[in-house]
Formats: sequence, C-alpha cells, structure tokens
Amino acid sequence: MAVKLYNQTRLPDDLLRRLLTRTARRIGARSGIIVKVTRAQMHQTGEVRSAFSVAEWWCRRGGGKRYIRTDGAYMRIALRDSEACDEVALFVAHEAIAVMLHEWSHVADCQVGGREHSRKGPSGRRPAWTDRPEEIRAQFAAVSAGKRPTDLDDDLELELAEALRKTWR
Ligand SMILES: [Zn+2]
Repeated sequence: MAVKLYNQTRLPDDLLRRLLTRTARRIGARSGIIVKVTRAQMHQTGEVRSAFSVAEWWCRRGGGKRYIRTDGAYMRIALRDSEACDEVALFVAHEAIAVMLHEWSHVADCQVGGREHSRKGPSGRRPAWTDRPEEIRAQFAAVSAGKRPTDLDDDLELELAEALRKTWR
C-alpha cells in the first residue's frame, strides 16, 4: 500500500513519497499509513500515534469529519522550511531522513503490537524520554538503518537537499 501523503510543504509530493517509502522499507514498517508533512521553522520533529483511522480534518485543511483508514498508525513530521544558507541543506536533508527512520520505527511498533512501552508511574508521569523502551528501540533502529547506506539513498539525500534549497530561495 502506498503512503497516504498530506503535504503542507513546498517540497514535491513525489520526492516525499519516495523518501517515506524507502525509509519505511529500511525499518521494516508497512508504509501504507497516513503521513502529514508540515513546515518547521527550525527544529525538525515527528510524532506517531497508534490508530486504524483518522478524521480527514486532521489530515488536511478544509477536511471534513469523514474517517480515512490507516495501517495501525499515523505520522506527522515537520521539515525545516525556513531561510538558511545553502551549506546547511545537506545537513538538514540528512537530519530529515533520520527523523523519518526514527518515526517509522514507532510505526513498526504499532503495527506489530505487544512490544514493551513505557507506562505512567505512580506519580502519573511517564518515565523520562531516554528511559522509555519505545524510544530506545526507535533510536537503535534509526541509527542501525542509517549505518547501511546505499548509493541510492545518497542520491535521495542529495535530491532532498536540492529540493530544500529551492524552497528556501
Ligand atoms: Zn520517538
């Protein structure tokens, strides 16, 4: 199943689809989920929630109340979309791919189910970020996937850097 992409950036849909599909495959997640890509001023982030459907209004501006199916989870990622000098484009592209790998690992967790997740303690708080098993798994998965680059991935990274540069102009 193809990614259900909702793109709120000026980056081309086709490029985002290829990046998301490739990074999902690296992690071993099924890519047929809802992914909303938004614009970040500086900090590139992502989040994943477990779900089987999502209201259309969440996916896109002007969306209605009807529900759209998703495969076990949905993702939002925010990619940097502010003016910056050309020299940082490659770094930003590399970081964006790392964010995708990390978030796909959370997606895989949702799709597999039954893996250990952090719980709220007696205080009602969840453990610190770095003590959450799902975060440790995601970091491991992203780092080890990032260590297995291929020429194809390098090409995609360069393509993203070039596309970012264009949107910044
Ligand atoms: Zn995480």
